[in-house]
Amino acid sequence: MRAMLFDGVGRPLREAEIDQPAIDADQLLIRVRACAVCRTDLHVVDGDLKEPKLPLVLGHEFVGSVADVGARVERFTVGERVGVPWLGWTCGECRFCSSGRENLCDRARFTGYQLDGGYAEYAAADQRFAFPIPAGYPDLQAAPLLCAGLIGYRSLRLAGDAERLGLYGFGAAAHIVTQVARYQGRRLFAFTKPGDLAGQRFARELGAEWAGSSDQTPPEPLDAAIIFAPAGPLVPAALRAVVKGGRVVCAGIHMSEIPAFPYEILWGERQVRSVANLTRADGKEFFRIAPEVPVRTEVQPYPLSDANAALDDLRQGRVRGAAVLAVDDGLLQER
Ligand SMILES: [Zn+2]
Ligand SMILES: [Zn+2]
Repeated sequence: MRAMLFDGVGRPLREAEIDQPAIDADQLLIRVRACAVCRTDLHVVDGDLKEPKLPLVLGHEFVGSVADVGARVERFTVGERVGVPWLGWTCGECRFCSSGRENLCDRARFTGYQLDGGYAEYAAADQRFAFPIPAGYPDLQAAPLLCAGLIGYRSLRLAGDAERLGLYGFGAAAHIVTQVARYQGRRLFAFTKPGDLAGQRFARELGAEWAGSSDQTPPEPLDAAIIFAPAGPLVPAALRAVVKGGRVVCAGIHMSEIPAFPYEILWGERQVRSVANLTRADGKEFFRIAPEVPVRTEVQPYPLSDANAALDDLRQGRVRGAAVLAVDDGLLQER
């Protein structure tokens, strides 16, 4: 099969012919049709995340059809459409797994990091961690739901019942969260890199009532903020923007150093917290809500062999919505 392989930090992904993955009794063999590109992939490529398997097939938000099933698989049958997220396997017995917090499992394994992912024509995935995909979503539009959607949704839930919600960084996750949050009756305030007028316009089109630069003060105080951009200085900026009792949720897996800040901006029972990974319960809930909203994803498609260009565009802020690899070339022609 054709795959884009990551060999190590500082090297571009390499297109290669490799064997299809072998599956065990709990796994599905999936013919990948579309795989979204996530900022976490950049953190792997850049070495911010230190423990990838090597060589590695990146990609933890992919959609495809089941091509084969292991002996114990009972949730899916051959031919069914399925989506695979970042959480690829958990132990089921550690203190986190046994208290409804499998996202924090001590022995968790992650797709496109410790397990090969979707930047390839075929992938293996544990049936227990895969999701059925709602019928209304074409493959390219469904792929970003699996990380930008799921982890965005978990971040939104952890922001509490905030009415005035700020989003720092308006990429794939924020464009989905905005739609869900509007549906829930919240008011949205979007912050982009200074000068990113296209990003600010995009946020307003999706229902943000205000969009500006991350160095600006919003027109009124916020009840909570979610930080999607991997920039530590946004933490004190967001703390300054939220009211007493407000929450600042850091949604990314990696962030540059957070600068020192005076205690008074945390005082007043403001909270800062991170969001780590997802649980299967998050996925179930999100895939029920997404078609109700209905969430519509905006995608920028690339052929599989252009994965390096997709990563580069994401790094440079040249993606509107989500970058998605059309692993099945036919999806590019259908558009
Ligand atoms: Zn991701
Ligand atoms: Zn565990």
